[in-house]
Amino acid sequence: MTQFGRRQILYFPVGSGTGGIGSGTGGIGSGSGGVGSGTPRPTALSADGGLIPDPNSRRTDLDSLHPAMRDSVVHLLTRLDAEQIPFRLFEGFRSPWRQAWLYAQGRTRSGAKVTNAEPWESYHQHGLAADFVLWLNNQWSWSTVGAHKRYWKRLQEIGNEVGLVPLTWELPHLQVADLKIADLQRGIYPDGGDDPWRDNLEAAVVGWTGEPAAPAFASPRPEMPTSPR
Ligand SMILES: [Zn+2]
Repeated sequence: MTQFGRRQILYFPVGSGTGGIGSGTGGIGSGSGGVGSGTPRPTALSADGGLIPDPNSRRTDLDSLHPAMRDSVVHLLTRLDAEQIPFRLFEGFRSPWRQAWLYAQGRTRSGAKVTNAEPWESYHQHGLAADFVLWLNNQWSWSTVGAHKRYWKRLQEIGNEVGLVPLTWELPHLQVADLKIADLQRGIYPDGGDDPWRDNLEAAVVGWTGEPAAPAFASPRPEMPTSPR
């Protein structure tokens, strides 16, 4: 396990990673449905001036996932593809702003409840979870009828074999096995975290001023240098 280091964040890295398996259109992890492109659209400024990504925008890039999750996603989708089971990465990293927006649905905003997790209570905010949805006839499908039922079973079976575990109440969801959310909320993460994952996560931690509070390990933004007089 590793503790967060004190790295300097000078700007909010909106979007990341061009090319590669989880970006753009057509890759195995791509969100070519239009709504969920890999690059969130910034719409506002956080309290400290960082850009806040559009809460209605899903992230499907792999860079913002912890390497433990990223590698599992690649293995999982490769194996599903070999069995001609058409899952795609629907959502990977999810910002605390988006989690709050989803949590509000069915509570302070109209619609059916879609989550019981508040910001930082979901593995998605830590880059350690992803949702997979069937891509059928050029659109997302949550169908579980007929042959599709077996597809979801294979998603979970292969997920288990590549180090992931499901949640009983959220069919498309898989997260890295053998972790505790309380550890993640304290900034204790699996070994092997790399810069793209860390930079993205730390930007969210530093920029988040809502409730519940961001993990306690937030490294403060460095003092601006005093300009010469
Ligand atoms: Zn999920």
